[in-house]
Amino acid sequence: MADCIFCEIVNNRMKSDIVYQDEDLVVFNDITPQAPVHTLIVPRKHIESLHDMKPEDADIMSHMVRIVKIITEKYRLKEDGYRLVVNCGINGGQTVPHLHLHILGGRRMTWPPG
Ligand code: AMP
Ligand code: ZN
Repeated sequence: MADCIFCEIVNNRMKSDIVYQDEDLVVFNDITPQAPVHTLIVPRKHIESLHDMKPEDADIMSHMVRIVKIITEKYRLKEDGYRLVVNCGINGGQTVPHLHLHILGGRRMTWPPG
């Protein structure tokens, strides 16, 4: 997808701090971390948001959730816990229109979110 930052990253046209990748997903550190651990799980396929997922994309979401375990174990987040966030659309606070799952950990989160 032209002009999509995350397409640029997953296709190796833009540099990022990649911590895991496989044929379907790339995980990299957020450029503006909101917690000591802040990684983004990004499918290689350009899907604009959670709301734009089609039935044939169901495997992508289950794959993303499986990878959460790998990443949270890598950063030893299991014991103290962590937060997963998917911002969707304007009111959800989504700023990059390419589906991604935030993993935030290493500090106590607050609720409600801002
Ligand atoms: P969202 O607001 O949910 O769409 O999240 C987008 C996230 O992407 C934000 O937390 C940004 O800090 C992060 N971000 C934007 N550009 C980059 C980049 N080039 N590399 C890594 N993270 C980025
Ligand atoms: Zn994209």
